[in-house]
Amino acid sequence: MLRRRVNRRQGLVAWVTLVALLAMPFSLAAQTQIKYHSNKFSVQDDVKVGRQAAQEAEQQFPLLRDEEVRSYVERVGQRLVNAIPSQFQHSEFQYYFKVVNASDINAFALPGGPMYVNRGMIDAARREGEMAGVMAHEISHVALRHGTAQATKAQKYGLLAGIAGIAGTILGGPGVGQLAQAPFAVYFLKFSREYETEADILGAQIMARAGYDPRDLANMFQTIERQGGGGGGFLSDHPSPNDRYARINQEAQYLRVANPLGDTREFARIQERLRGYPRAQTMAEIARSGQRYPTGENTGNYPNNPPSGRVEYPSNRFQNYRILNNVQVSVPNNWRQIGQGDSVWFVPEGGYGQYNGQAVFTHGVSFGVSQTNNRNLQRATDEFVNSLAQGNNNLRSTSGYQRTTLGGRTALWTALSNTNEATGRPENIRLITTQLSNGQLFYMIAVAPQNERNFENAFQSVASSVRINN
Ligand SMILES: [Zn+2]
Repeated sequence: MLRRRVNRRQGLVAWVTLVALLAMPFSLAAQTQIKYHSNKFSVQDDVKVGRQAAQEAEQQFPLLRDEEVRSYVERVGQRLVNAIPSQFQHSEFQYYFKVVNASDINAFALPGGPMYVNRGMIDAARREGEMAGVMAHEISHVALRHGTAQATKAQKYGLLAGIAGIAGTILGGPGVGQLAQAPFAVYFLKFSREYETEADILGAQIMARAGYDPRDLANMFQTIERQGGGGGGFLSDHPSPNDRYARINQEAQYLRVANPLGDTREFARIQERLRGYPRAQTMAEIARSGQRYPTGENTGNYPNNPPSGRVEYPSNRFQNYRILNNVQVSVPNNWRQIGQGDSVWFVPEGGYGQYNGQAVFTHGVSFGVSQTNNRNLQRATDEFVNSLAQGNNNLRSTSGYQRTTLGGRTALWTALSNTNEATGRPENIRLITTQLSNGQLFYMIAVAPQNERNFENAFQSVASSVRINN
């Protein structure tokens, strides 16, 4: 009796095992296939752009000069790099890893392979796998060439000019922006939801191939949450951490971990070693103390702290500026110019700041030109609004187009709403567009929190002051 029961159970176990074995090839086949996005840049461009951005990054961020820590992170990184699926390997790329002495839980990678891991991220991770998860995610952005794919999209809208602009933008995303060159691009370019999901999925696949449990990438979101948020470039505001957690765990079901590494004692030793150093500054503190930008002539000093929310009323006295070669504007004289070239901002004290290392504008106006092939003003404007929406998921149009004039030309006015990523507050955006004689779209964007109506008058005065000599 007893024996028979055991036998029956053994039979059941064998049957379940057999079913699992049979099912396995299908499970493995079910892992998500990732593809490249269209990219007009060459692989060498990635390398070139990344090298330039890396130079900038290393001038702005203090590196932790500890060879033991660096070489440990390098070893983890190279293990992940070796696990990149062959279709996403590029022999031109050179992955290397450095540690930034900053307390934010963050890491970022640049096109072609330079990667920077914050000391705060190593501190926060509960085991090597969690740290490796963030690194695998960042490596995936590089392997999938997301930086130049994003720049391909942006260039279509004329928001970037040349390699320098792209490097500035790429650096602007995760860390400190090249504001003097491309303030608007910094505001607008973040990886899209789609790119973030792809980097999570490929990251999970790389982890499994490297011997890490891919669920540790998902776990890192909870670890970051427990530590009170942060996460900067890694913890993008889209998709939500909950969605990302679920999606990675779903993918993990289809992944078999090759030669599991288990927990390494080395990780604990490196954490211990880091605790021996004085507290690291945050990225924002670093930017405040050692800031080197903007380097342009007209830019003067400007606040580098997170937007305070306390902003002076726009002055009734106005000051003239000549921008974009052929445009004159008057703006309240308590606003200052940030940036030059194809895109400039005029902002009041406190209406601009850094959030998670990114430039954020809460109050002010921006002027710029956008390339378009569309001779129809409304369609060119549609195209431009779509380009804005790609980097700002909360952006919604709240009005149709209304005819107006700008600089004596026929123009379109439209109202949009957004949720500011730094303050979490709803904001109103006013967009006015007109076409220049060379076919480019000229735009004015005005931004203010929804409950601060006193900016509307200033925006109207600014708009009516525009003179276009073209
Ligand atoms: Zn990402």
